[in-house]
Amino acid sequence: MRTVYVNGEYLPEDQARVSIFDRGFLMADGVYEVTSVLDGKLIDFDGHAVRLERSLGELEMASPVTREELLEIHRELVRLNDVNEGMIYLQITRGAPSDRDFVFPDAETTPSTIVLFTQNKPGLADNPAARKGMRVISIEDMRWGRRDIKTVQLLYPSMGKMMAKKAGADDAWMVQDGFVTEGTSNNAYIVKGNKIITRALSNDILHGITRAAVLRCAAEAQMEVEERNFSIDEAQEADEAFITSASTFVMPVVEIDGTKLGDGTPGSVATRLREIYLDESRKAAI
Ligand code: PMP
Repeated sequence: MRTVYVNGEYLPEDQARVSIFDRGFLMADGVYEVTSVLDGKLIDFDGHAVRLERSLGELEMASPVTREELLEIHRELVRLNDVNEGMIYLQITRGAPSDRDFVFPDAETTPSTIVLFTQNKPGLADNPAARKGMRVISIEDMRWGRRDIKTVQLLYPSMGKMMAKKAGADDAWMVQDGFVTEGTSNNAYIVKGNKIITRALSNDILHGITRAAVLRCAAEAQMEVEERNFSIDEAQEADEAFITSASTFVMPVVEIDGTKLGDGTPGSVATRLREIYLDESRKAAI
């Protein structure tokens, strides 16, 4: 049984409790982060901590812990649960007032709720899916307008994943006004010639921590990066494609809406970037 963290306590998972009045439960009024663990160490902890603070700030939500305390909790959970490879999920909500109300509760009297738990995933880095590549479908992006805030409001992405599953694919890329925004839980890229193309940062997409690291890796490897919009048509004609996220790292995409990219196998740019990213991340892990 896992040991989880809830509001200052380390507890067996079946003893952890959150109120039915919690605004995360009633209104999806909460934010989250997922940090990967490789070799028992945290990948890009600072990046996730900085984004968490930004998400909280955008929602005028107080953090119940300092960054140092957060690091300590992450490390303690890794230790208590003996995680070598996997993820740590963190969620902070606006807490549990005494009743349901659209108006934000007073932070003085309603402390935020903080929950963390580990997900043990042996083989996370040596994922066979990376050798096979993913198939994606395109769907309309029907999410709200502040996708740069990492909220727990994940119903549409979850529906998108189900649409992909029903279509026999692995994931969905969302399209707004004719251009790809991102995957249901990842950032999207295409490769044309030597150029890596990905949508620029804005409120339309989540500012992926893996995206930032992978673009740094690409620049160091002298690869050209262009941050601009691309359509599904352009993607289907690209040499290759891939996604990035904290738990999949860099994952090649080999098919979009039934059209194979190139010869239908993972491309060399995605494969190389995955290796570089994993290498660099392991070295910088804390
Ligand atoms: N976009 C969306 C919509 C996501 O949910 C995620 C992962 N949570 C990402 C991008 C990738 O972000 P990161 O690299 O920080 O995991």
